[in-house]
Amino acid sequence: MAQLTELKKRFAEQFGGDASGLSAFQAPGRVNLIGEHTDYNGGAVFPAALTFGTTLLIAPRDDRKLGFASTNFPGTSEIPLDEIAFREEDDWANYPKGIVWELKQRGIELSRGYNFLYHGEIPNGSGLSSSASIEVVTAYALLTLEGKPTDTVQIALWSQHAENEFIGVKCGIMDQFAVANGRKDHAIHLDCDTLKYELVPFRSGDYKLVIGNTNKRRGLVDSKYNERRAQCEQAVRDLRAAFPELTLLGQLTLQQFEDNAHLIADETVRRRARHVVEEIDRVGRSIEVLNKDDLAAFGQLMNASHDSLRDLYEVTGAELDAMVDAARTVPGVLGSRMTGAGFGGCTVSLVHKDSVERFISEVGDKYEAATDLKPAFYVCDIGDGVGELKGEA
Ligand code: ADP
Ligand code: MG
Repeated sequence: MAQLTELKKRFAEQFGGDASGLSAFQAPGRVNLIGEHTDYNGGAVFPAALTFGTTLLIAPRDDRKLGFASTNFPGTSEIPLDEIAFREEDDWANYPKGIVWELKQRGIELSRGYNFLYHGEIPNGSGLSSSASIEVVTAYALLTLEGKPTDTVQIALWSQHAENEFIGVKCGIMDQFAVANGRKDHAIHLDCDTLKYELVPFRSGDYKLVIGNTNKRRGLVDSKYNERRAQCEQAVRDLRAAFPELTLLGQLTLQQFEDNAHLIADETVRRRARHVVEEIDRVGRSIEVLNKDDLAAFGQLMNASHDSLRDLYEVTGAELDAMVDAARTVPGVLGSRMTGAGFGGCTVSLVHKDSVERFISEVGDKYEAATDLKPAFYVCDIGDGVGELKGEA
């Protein structure tokens, strides 16, 4: 692996000559195939791990300090083990620090210091979960090197908790779960309330998953995201008139929602809730059609998901809509939708392998003409979740 050789050289430059005791780990990025804005509502999601992600080279130190470097960002930081607190000036290093902090909360104190060198292949802030990837690879590596169990469901939960409480981003469980538990050629059907999950073979045959990055800078994402969460909580409060025990929209069936939607006073809140409940239903139907290898039906569900995110949940925006509209005009495209939180970030499309080249050129041109932004495209395979790169370091 040429890249690891390069990285080892970089590690030696960054942290001094001796690279003895070096280990290598990798965690993927993820793409959500369907089930958007359902995770924090306790609903179903259907993500898959990608074949690219974050590589971590890590080695123990003789002192009780943590040294952090990344090929994606300039500079290094050195932090004493007993001074782990969020500091604005530590910038990205707060993500791995958050994991060290989380492990400490769970009674796992690191026995020594470590040097970390990260190399990320996931565009940051594009909705392919580079943050979950760096968190999960850090947690997995530290638990391995400290001789602790590496339960990947627990790693996902701890990483999410670190992002919620240490970084202060109130994300749901989907990203960390997919990055930790993905499997080659499978998507993950996850119930975000019970954390029950099933690996579903994704037999895409002659079709490829193509991710399109709008390269739109995220502006208002965090505030809009929080607003959507608050609207879902409002819908739950209104629906308690009929379901006193209700805590999450995902606990309702589509029929229960239809029969009681009138209890939601605000029209906008009602539309938000309708998206969530219908989207969860679409995830269930996706598993059914994929089990029958009906990719065309799955493509239709992807389209319906995007349309609902555009019209009912209102999280798409001009760029994502322009890219999806362009995608749907290309022959050989079964479906196209935004993926991730929205307002920018990426789309995912199911494209016949013979149309991929045409797809990239036509969608690229149309998107650029509509938005003045240059997109990027990734033709994807589904990869494995976090793991050690054994024998390769
Ligand atoms: P997303 O998860 O959608 O990619 P986020 O804003 O949640 O976007 O997380 C991106 C942030 O995660 C980056 O700005 C950086 O702070 C951190 N990060 C991710 N990957 C790396 C990496 N390889 N090296 C250093 N920091 C990283
Ligand atoms: Mg993130």
